[in-house]
Amino acid sequence: MTTPVLSAKPALSTLLDLDARDPLQHKKAQFVLPEGVIYLDGNSLGALPATVPARLERVIHQEWGDALIRSWTAHAQEGRDWMALPDRVAAKLAPLIGAEASEISVGDSTSVNLFKALTAALDVASPGRRVILTDADNFPTDLYVAQGLNGLLDGRYELRRVPAAELSAHLTTDVAAMMVTEVDYRTGERLDMASLTAQAHAQGIVTIWDLAHSAGAFEVDLTAARADFAVGCGYKYLNGGPGAPGYLFVASRHLQARVALSGWMGHADPFEMARDYTPAKDARRFIVGTPTVLSLSALDTALDVFADVDLKQLRAKSLALTDTFMALVAGDPDLTLVTPLDHARRGSQVSFRHPQAREAMRRLVERGVIGDFRTPDILRFGFTPLYVSYADVYRAAQAVLDVAGELRA
Ligand SMILES: *Cc1c(COP(=O)(O)O)cnc(C)c1O
Repeated sequence: MTTPVLSAKPALSTLLDLDARDPLQHKKAQFVLPEGVIYLDGNSLGALPATVPARLERVIHQEWGDALIRSWTAHAQEGRDWMALPDRVAAKLAPLIGAEASEISVGDSTSVNLFKALTAALDVASPGRRVILTDADNFPTDLYVAQGLNGLLDGRYELRRVPAAELSAHLTTDVAAMMVTEVDYRTGERLDMASLTAQAHAQGIVTIWDLAHSAGAFEVDLTAARADFAVGCGYKYLNGGPGAPGYLFVASRHLQARVALSGWMGHADPFEMARDYTPAKDARRFIVGTPTVLSLSALDTALDVFADVDLKQLRAKSLALTDTFMALVAGDPDLTLVTPLDHARRGSQVSFRHPQAREAMRRLVERGVIGDFRTPDILRFGFTPLYVSYADVYRAAQAVLDVAGELRA
């Protein structure tokens, strides 16, 4: 598998040719996409996998409507009981993030999972340390959750926010935990998870990685990186649908860490109805309340799209698509690329600064090219290799150049 290198602006015919040879070409038909839309926002809300509506119909009419409460335990043999849904989803997520299913708890939003992961991480952190290190430009919810938790702990910690490029210089022995997002949601810059984790460990620091813009966009290997904790999002590159459950990863060596939100569904035997909490044996202990069956079912089916996907091919295509887009848009005087050119430092999105970014994106959406605007001046385009073609990139780039030209006129 070679990544096509595109230095000059490729012609449409070249790109159609790449589409014809694309090993992931058949995946696009597995999604429902509206006519006339080029969807470059799968990093915000993944497209609808074609098999999800029928699954939800079945869950609603048969499992809920007919079988009612029996569905919690019915068909356990075929793996269709509701109780096991979080575990089944965990098993499908495991190969995408390089973890064991027993290290993954599925349910709740990414924000709630961050709270759970951070409390657990601080519990296993080196005693006496009082700093939580994070990227100053981390996604707001990550910062807010850390602030809220610290408030609950009477401000015991200092939330030290530094530019991403300076994280490694700030891995000092007063830091308890480093909590960072692997791919920056604005710029698309990717951090080196393995290297930063190793540097953190060398100073006795535990790590929490937010995989919101990583999992499903490229291969993630938490085990190889020796990550301690991680969280992620079900509705972005994993296509689980709006508000899909997120997940938490806890390395098995940290399973004894504090479960701050100790709810009955994380109990070793929920239906024993015991007075005291005894955690489930694996990461399932981080599940809090009743699994959200409808959204978990959608995510469960959505993840089947990845079953035959070679993640190395996915990454190669992602880089080729983003290279192509960068090459085609290069040279416009009003568009300033903020995404790294270096492949190793790039996620699966391309962002530009533009003096009228909000208006530019409004016009693009009007033309059927859907990306998004991020304050203060960012145009952000996400490239989901499963359903974005090279020809789509060509048309999107033309639209971007047209709109930039219009706004100059
Ligand atoms: C999208 C995103 C989230 C989303 O959190 P929710 O609780 O699902 O709203 C969290 N962190 C990062 C870095 C994100 O990009």
